[in-house]
Amino acid sequence: MHILLVEDDLSIADSLREGLIRYGFDVDHVTTGSAALAADNPDVVLLDLGLPDMDGLDVCRRLRSHSAVPIIVITARGDEVDTVAGLEVGADDYVAKPFGVREIIARIRAVTRRTSATAQDTEGRLRVGSVEVDTAARRVFCGGEEVPLAPKEFDLLSTLVERPGTVLTRESLIDTVWDTHWFGSTRTLDVHVAALRQKLAGSLTITTVRGVGFRLDRS
Ligand code: CA
Repeated sequence: MHILLVEDDLSIADSLREGLIRYGFDVDHVTTGSAALAADNPDVVLLDLGLPDMDGLDVCRRLRSHSAVPIIVITARGDEVDTVAGLEVGADDYVAKPFGVREIIARIRAVTRRTSATAQDTEGRLRVGSVEVDTAARRVFCGGEEVPLAPKEFDLLSTLVERPGTVLTRESLIDTVWDTHWFGSTRTLDVHVAALRQKLAGSLTITTVRGVGFRLDRS
């Protein structure tokens, strides 16, 4: 697997590069946003947001405009504004500095598995693990048994199921499931997540990513 590492801090880049190579990844290391945009099709991009020549968010947005490559942004610890912004412009996940090579590898495996995690059949049914979502009929089955969901629970689940293993921000979920001009309490989102957790317990896990949003995983 070919990793494009975009990081101008050489002490971080060198140890990460060595660690990834030790685990069998090919690593192309660049230190600027313009070099990242000029790179050949990598399988995964690890993108530091603080780059010398360009805003890392612009690099992310531009990569995403012409490619579906999984992008993991590297942010400063506790910088939720950057983290959310990165996810909003198309990053799939993030890691906060300082991080270990094992943590990065776990994130790389999760985002690359994502592309094959949702199987979609010819009738447009989405499947993650034992859960099947029939988007046309708006019905959900778990191990063949129908699970009754309220309309917004269904909308929320369909949104999450489209991108398993990916962190979706609270803002993007509210925009998608309710609407952009929704001024209600964001507590409503938590209530719907809690309902889905209860109804799909044992089949799907909805992980809370503190201060950022939610991620759907198989149980
Ligand atoms: Ca930097």
